Formats: sequence, structure tokens, C-alpha cells
Amino acid sequence: MSLNLKNFIKQVDLRNPNEPEFLQAVTEVIEDLIPYVNEHRPDLIDLKILERMVEPERIVSFRVAWTDDQNQIQVNRGYRVQMNSAIGPYKGGLRFAPDVNLSILKFLAFEQVFKNSLTSLPIGGGKGGSDFDPKGKSDHEIMRFCQSFMTELQRHIGSETDVPAGDIGVGGREIGFLFGQYKRLQNNFSGVLTGKGTAWGGSYIRPEATGYGLLYFVQCILDYNNEKIEGKTVCISGAGNVAFYAAEKAIQMGAKVITLSNSQGTIFDKEGFSLDKLNYLGTLGRDLGKYTKKYSSASYHAKENPWQFPCDIALPCATQNEINEADAKRLVKNGCKIVAEGANMPSSAEAIKVYLQAKIHFGPGKAANAGGVAVSGLEMSQNAIGQQWAREKVDHRLKLIMENIHKTCVRYGKEPNGYINYLKGANVGGFIKVAEAMKAQGVV
Ligand code: NDP
Repeated sequence: MSLNLKNFIKQVDLRNPNEPEFLQAVTEVIEDLIPYVNEHRPDLIDLKILERMVEPERIVSFRVAWTDDQNQIQVNRGYRVQMNSAIGPYKGGLRFAPDVNLSILKFLAFEQVFKNSLTSLPIGGGKGGSDFDPKGKSDHEIMRFCQSFMTELQRHIGSETDVPAGDIGVGGREIGFLFGQYKRLQNNFSGVLTGKGTAWGGSYIRPEATGYGLLYFVQCILDYNNEKIEGKTVCISGAGNVAFYAAEKAIQMGAKVITLSNSQGTIFDKEGFSLDKLNYLGTLGRDLGKYTKKYSSASYHAKENPWQFPCDIALPCATQNEINEADAKRLVKNGCKIVAEGANMPSSAEAIKVYLQAKIHFGPGKAANAGGVAVSGLEMSQNAIGQQWAREKVDHRLKLIMENIHKTCVRYGKEPNGYINYLKGANVGGFIKVAEAMKAQGVV
């Protein structure tokens, strides 16, 4: 007996109607896993390991009612998708953004299972969030929303059950409010969330970890190809947590970063950002265009993304499906040799086909942006033993984890002609440990 790719995807589509992002994420993984399982692990077919992996262990959805500054009652929807706990407690971020829905959270939770497994840490996969839009809200509104959200979520999480963290729209401020409410309701100071402040249980390097880890992964790709990062031109999208620290590390490593962006437009600096320029950009909030008033080397491109600018390395760090087929073709035509994803699923399925056909190096998010959850895992370890490790120690461990992920990708993704298919390597490498654990734990 063997698994049939088309039938499998059809079944997933039928069981999860109107969930395009989830179907996209599953397809991207299953296209590599079905041939692998058929050829190397037929023992997993009757056990229905793949069928079980695409079915979340649990989903909770709940009302979040709160009062805004005008004393008006607002109603949002909260979710937690607990996807897979075969190798550890559910772990994955919370996203607060108006476009959040179940399809997006299920795709993120599914990706998270493979990513977390790749880190080699004992963490399962989950994701959650709300359609709440934090933009334009006061600190008090954010706090009241977070308190109401956690009042329900606290029943479903715990330091050995499910440990959420941040994602789009959830940074240090939100984690603080969420943690405070959890502690109040449970009377328990525990490592139930990661991304906490360093004064109250947080790990050093957690805010920087996704962006820094992305660059450590890029460094591995370059090392493998006997190339250096110095002088390479880098386009980055986004201007949030991941993009900012990716830019910082790239500049520190000697690369020339020429773009950052947000949902309103792109800032292009032909001379490249220095650390001073980057810090200045960080003070502008979402009005990136203001930067051109201070630096004449820059231009602002409203409603445009960064992929039109020639670069050696592209680092999408904003959101899902931000690189379409035409963008990918333009990147390749302009000489881009590496695309490494800081964001989750920023490349559309068609864009990925373009990279693989052109045989450029493509680091998928589940490998390239795993540094964030890796340091979250290290934060959990520090909380469990009541310690706080030095910055250098965490940074060193982050580097080792990214190097190991790269090795796993090479091991499972190397094609006969020597090309490294990082996507296949990450999918298969992330899958094996989870599948073994599920097999050992019986039909649950
Ligand atoms: P932030 O909220 O800090 O920043 C998000 C950035 O992306 C903002 O600049 C935002 O611009 C921009 N953005 C959001 N939506 C769009 C859009 N539709 N078009 C263009 N730009 C957009 O989030 P993070 O930096 O934490 O997350 C970015 C990505 O990285 C996400 O895909 C997330 O899942 C992924 N990720 C994050 C990790 C983390 O540790 N934080 C870990 C691993 C992955 P604007 O302000 O205008 O909306």
C-alpha cells in the first residue's frame, strides 16, 4: 500500500473547506513527505501518521469582550490551535491582527510542529491569537483586551501543557499584560509564556532571536558554498521585530541592507543602512517615509514591496504570501542567490517553484526563522531550573541550533546533483522525530 498525493490533498481540502492558507501549508509539506514515506517509511502508512498530523489535537475558540476608552463594548474572537504534542508541550506564538482566522492559525500551527522539531528541543506545535487590531489602540485598551483574552486562555495553557509567545502584533508589552493576568488568575508564577522581560523570567536574546537566527542560517548557507556575507546586498521586508533584528545582525556581519518595509510601503537606501540609520528608522513608528527627510540617499515607495530592488540575498520578514510568482521571477532575474524566510510562509507556492527551478538557495521559514522558538525553548529551560543564562551563552546556543538545523536540511535535502533542497530537508528532517514519537505513543 502507498499514499497518493492527489487523494491526500483532496481529503484535506474536503475536511477543511475555505482554509486556503492551511491547505497551502499542508501541500508544501506533504509534497515532500508522501514520496519519502512511500519509499523509506511504509510502516507509517497504516498507522495513519500523516492523516493524524494534519488534524489538530484540539482547537479552542472563544469570545473576547472588552471596553474601549470611549466606554464602548468591543467583541473579538480568540483562538488557540493545539496542533501536536508528540514531542513536548504545545509551543507557538499569539498573533493579534484583523485578518486572523482559523485558516491562518492552523497553517501557522502546522508549520510550527516541524519547526519546533527541527530545533531538537522537546517542544510540540501550536499557535493562537485574535482578530483584534492593536494599531491605534491606547496602552490601556491593549491591557484590557489582553486581560480579557487571558481570562479564557488560562484554562487551556500551562508551563507543561502549552506555552504561547509573541508573533505579529504581540511583543513585550502584550506578553507583560498577558502574563500579569495569568499570574493573577492562577496564583502561579511560572514559565507559561515566553518573550517575558529579562527582569521577570525572560531570556536574554529572545527579542533578537528570530532575526539573529535567520542571519546565522544565511551564514551557514554561505559557508557551505564557500562564500562570504561581507559586501552582499540584502533586501529585507517588514519593519517589526524580525525585520529589525535581521537588519541589525546583517549590518553587523558586513552586509549592505538596502530596504525595509511595512504594509504602507518600502524604504530604499541605495547606500545601505548603518546601525545609526537603522536605530533612527526604529524611532519613526510606521511612518517610514520620514526617513528620506533626514537621509537623501533614500527614497520611499508607497504601496510597493522591496522585491524590485536588485540584491544578492532576500529576507522576507513581514507576513505570509508577500512574494508572489512575479516577485520571485524578478528577484531571480536581478541576480538574487539566496531567499531565506524570516516570516512564516512569505513565499507563495508559485514563488517557491521559481526558486527551486532556478536552483537558488531557498531557506524556508520552518528552518530559517526557527531561532525565535529555539530561544523560547531555552527560556522554558531556564524557567524550569530557576536560572537566567548570560547573553553570550544564549547567543552561542542559538548559533549552534541554527547550524544543526542547517545540517539536518543538508542531510535530508541533498539532491544527486549536489543542490540542497532546503524545503525538502526541513520537511523530512522535522517530520521524522514527530512521527517516531507518535508511533511510540500509540493511537491517540
Ligand atoms: P511585528 O508585528 O513585529 O512586525 C510585522 C511587520 O510586518 C510590520 O512591519 C508590519 O507592517 C509588516 N506587515 C504585516 N502585515 C503586512 C502585510 N500584509 N504587508 C506588508 N507588511 C506587513 O511581527 P514579527 O516581526 O514578530 O513577525 C513577522 C513575521 O515573522 C510573521 O510572519 C511571523 O509569523 C514571523 N515570525 C515571528 C517570530 C517572532 O519571534 N516574532 C518567530 C518566527 C516567525 P505594519 O506595521 O504596517 O502592519
